[in-house]
Amino acid sequence: VNPAVPRWVPRLLRLLGPSVIRTDAATRAGHAGDAWHAAHTPDVVALPRRAAQVQALVRFCQRHRIPLTPRGSGRGYVGGCVPVHAGVSLSLARMNRILEVDADDYVAVVEPGVITGDLQRAVAARGLFYPPDPASLEESSIGGNIATNAGGPRCLKYGVTRNYVLGLDIVLPNGDLVRTGGRTHKNKLGFNLGDLFTGSEGMLGIVTQATLRLLPQPPARSVVVATFGTATAAAAAVQAVLRAGFLPSAMEVADAFTLAAARRYTRHTPPGNAFLLVELDGQPASVRGEAATVSALLKKARALRVLKAVTPAAIEKLWSMRRDFSYSLRATGLLKMNQDIVVPRGLLVDVFRLAARLRRDHHINVSAFGHAGDGNIHVNLMFPADDDGKPHIRRAVDDLFRSVLALGGTITGEHGTGLARKPWWNEATSPELRRLHHTLKNALDPRGILNPGKFLGG
Ligand SMILES: Cc1cc2nc3c(=O)[nH]c(=O)nc-3n(C[C@H](O)[C@H](O)[C@H](O)COP(=O)(O)OP(=O)(O)OC[C@H]3O[C@@H](n4cnc5c(N)ncnc54)[C@H](O)[C@@H]3O)c2cc1C
Repeated sequence: VNPAVPRWVPRLLRLLGPSVIRTDAATRAGHAGDAWHAAHTPDVVALPRRAAQVQALVRFCQRHRIPLTPRGSGRGYVGGCVPVHAGVSLSLARMNRILEVDADDYVAVVEPGVITGDLQRAVAARGLFYPPDPASLEESSIGGNIATNAGGPRCLKYGVTRNYVLGLDIVLPNGDLVRTGGRTHKNKLGFNLGDLFTGSEGMLGIVTQATLRLLPQPPARSVVVATFGTATAAAAAVQAVLRAGFLPSAMEVADAFTLAAARRYTRHTPPGNAFLLVELDGQPASVRGEAATVSALLKKARALRVLKAVTPAAIEKLWSMRRDFSYSLRATGLLKMNQDIVVPRGLLVDVFRLAARLRRDHHINVSAFGHAGDGNIHVNLMFPADDDGKPHIRRAVDDLFRSVLALGGTITGEHGTGLARKPWWNEATSPELRRLHHTLKNALDPRGILNPGKFLGG
């Protein structure tokens, strides 16, 4: 008997078999971490193909009080799927079938391991549209997107993942399988329990199937890019576009540091100290008209340069400028600590001022870019690898979060709380709100087996 192998492992192997339960070192190591830096190796990895296997696993873990941590693709940014107390890493990656795409009901029924980009392509082939577009969409799973309530540039017009969840099959910590909602686009039967599980970071239940809302695919898109002399001018331009009655499908901004890095990386970036990308979608004639009006509006708002694209190739070229920001920042050779803070929409310019102050006060490089329309800006602290873990980095993050909370904002708009934001959880919430979280958690998972050790402790 190997003392390093917990006594329950052979029993679990007998229950679900070696095709579901993996104990080899390589598989376990491959399920230790996500895109953040924390990692902990689980005792075993479970790779079920059916909800019934998930239920059997949950009941086993419940009986033996074994920590059970759900995992989608492991591309989270906050350590949410890290099995901090070891036990079982429950990967939903093999439950990856698109069960149905219905062009009359405008729904898709999917298993949780489906990759978001695959679903978008499958529904687009039927003239349908699944809008949530996290930048990780080619890797992250629908189950992970639901558990983190993922968002992306299109949130401004289309909302976040939550707005597309019509129904969920959830395995509760006691092993029951409940179905919330269904395939109707409206449903007011009882509490909105689907909303409770969406964004619950794998701590209240396990998503084993989802019925998702689809929209008609907008037939045309157009993109306008403008650069400005100052971040204040770019922020004013964002307000001008909205005030003129436009609801773009995306509005992305970037600050001077990001633009300077982009210019070193590629020659395509136009001159200026602030960048704004506006995407419009809809019917071809109206999109062309709106793009012309928005271009004129941005010029009037003191843009230094305005570029407009209406063909797919030209649109792709303008979007690639925005996508290049991440690569350009990586090419600086500095580490990038990505924070996804949100402020009330009207305070966009305060975020850029805050980034500049952090730069000065903490002697650290800061790049700010992101979703202007939502006030959700990625404030990236950039520092040499040698500085990782040093006190001035932690002080800069403390300062950033405290300042954002003082502005009436929140410390995470997309990535979630998980492990990464655990140190700030108390400061960002009231005692009453924390108590309510614990009440819900204890009601569903009194033994605390499901994804323990995250922001609720346990
Ligand atoms: C390059 C990059 C870009 C990113 N861009 C964005 C972005 O634009 N917007 C955004 O919102 N996020 C973004 N992220 C963060 C991340 O991709 C999202 O949080 C995504 O939803 C994680 O999905 P996943 O399948 O990788 O989940 P994991 O990382 O595997 O898990 C995330 C959380 O969900 C839980 N979970 C996973 N599957 C289930 C399930 N079936 N049932 C219950 N709980 C489950 C886990 O326990 C964990 O708490 C980005 C990450 C990277 C690496």
